[in-house]
Amino acid sequence: MLHWSNLSVYGYLHYVQYIVFVVGISKKLEALSKQKDCEKVKKWMKSINNHIYWTAATSTSGPDRIAKWNAILNHVRDIHTHQDPLYPMCEHVISKTTDKSKWLQAATPAFYKLEKLMTNKRTMKDVAKLSPHYQTSSLESFHAIILRFAPKNVVFPFIGMLCRLYLSAMHYNENGDRPQAKSQKGEPLFKISFPKARKGECSAKPHKTEPTFGYVADLMNLIFEEVFVNPVPYC
Ligand SMILES: [Zn+2]
Repeated sequence: MLHWSNLSVYGYLHYVQYIVFVVGISKKLEALSKQKDCEKVKKWMKSINNHIYWTAATSTSGPDRIAKWNAILNHVRDIHTHQDPLYPMCEHVISKTTDKSKWLQAATPAFYKLEKLMTNKRTMKDVAKLSPHYQTSSLESFHAIILRFAPKNVVFPFIGMLCRLYLSAMHYNENGDRPQAKSQKGEPLFKISFPKARKGECSAKPHKTEPTFGYVADLMNLIFEEVFVNPVPYC
């Protein structure tokens, strides 16, 4: 039985939280860049996205993450030394940019609103625990599960996508570690596949036991026994 405390499983919840955070910030930046006098923010959206990944991937503690996170607010104003001793200086090569117009100025609506978005209480709380860490070995199968819950050819509203990501994580948590199925005689079973990319070459893969969906019963139980004990008023 897998448990939340199992690190490799827990990692996927972190990963989902990380994706949710990136999507949330991107949407807010997009909206901000459309406001009056804030068009410059658009030029920073990609850098900020990279900054989220970099902050999460290179930090080992909450204060470390916060120091790096805050540095971007200096960086967008062409200031590359910072007050926080945990991250006193940008690590990039300081070069003269060809596009000077991209720098933001303090005391402008664009910077004021960006600062507010990047440092509000909720954002800081999320930043402090941000982590993209996952086991690369099983990432591919996790992505395959996400695609089953959230097919790419369908556009989902944010809340729909969020629910689907959580379902993917729960399905993965329950099924990511399935053992190889055995025949009645107890011999391990394999399945043969013919991947298109390999032009007719076939390969044998361990045939896993059937997936289980215990998390569905757990969710139903939680919702109808503990959250909406009496659903009638909501009908
Ligand atoms: Zn910098």
